Amino acid sequence: MEIISKKFDLTSFWDELSLADQALLLLDFDGTLSPFVVDPQQARPYPGVVPLLEKIVLSAETRLVIISGREVASLEHCLGMTPAPELWGCHGWQRRLPGREVLQVDLPEDAETSLREAEWLVKQAGYGKKLERKPVSVALHWRGLSESQKEQMQPLIQQWQRLELNADLQLHDFDGGIELRCVGVDKGTAVKELLGEIDPSAIIAYLGDDLTDEDAFRALPGRGLKVLVRDQKRETAADLWLQPPHELLWFFQQWLEKRGEDCG
Ligand SMILES: [Mg+2]
Repeated sequence: MEIISKKFDLTSFWDELSLADQALLLLDFDGTLSPFVVDPQQARPYPGVVPLLEKIVLSAETRLVIISGREVASLEHCLGMTPAPELWGCHGWQRRLPGREVLQVDLPEDAETSLREAEWLVKQAGYGKKLERKPVSVALHWRGLSESQKEQMQPLIQQWQRLELNADLQLHDFDGGIELRCVGVDKGTAVKELLGEIDPSAIIAYLGDDLTDEDAFRALPGRGLKVLVRDQKRETAADLWLQPPHELLWFFQQWLEKRGEDCG
């Protein structure tokens, strides 16, 4: 654990959390709650994470929200929490409140056409198995591939760069691949929408590992605790750095202890 921001005081944060009327715990999934695996559908939370989160929801008066680049259905399946908490998928394009239908922001027509072309290019190049088509993006996964195999994908990425110029799409690197995604919505806009729904005095924490989580960190200037969760520290807008899984589990246990009565 390392406190990155000199202005941040962890002891005061726990004190405020124990006294606050509302608490909002915002979490990324891949790389934060779960270790990376070659097949994204096989990702599961670190042992101990789900029981702690379930306790936090039940006894720690906390609104728990998971914000992921995955689609909501895949997120629910891999997270395995019963009942599922509020889920935001596709970096904020999809949202599902507990027990409700998935809501999705409409994709502009131009972007849809370009995404179909991006998908076709990947299949033509023989990388169909590395492709993930999501409602507002296409992702190319290279986890498990050698450097030379990744190098061979470069012409394809250049073709994607051309598509980026024609439509409201943008390329984003993520841990283990690259994604061509419709612009306008990201984890930062999702966080801002949530901020508009809660009391200004509510205590907030956002935990994430990836570059897409930096959008969320930047949406919380001077407000909320921003936590980078990953093995190696990097340049970040976060206040605190935790190494998973032990320091992550410690954080959730502290949350439960400071906020809940039944801390088990
Ligand atoms: Mg992540």
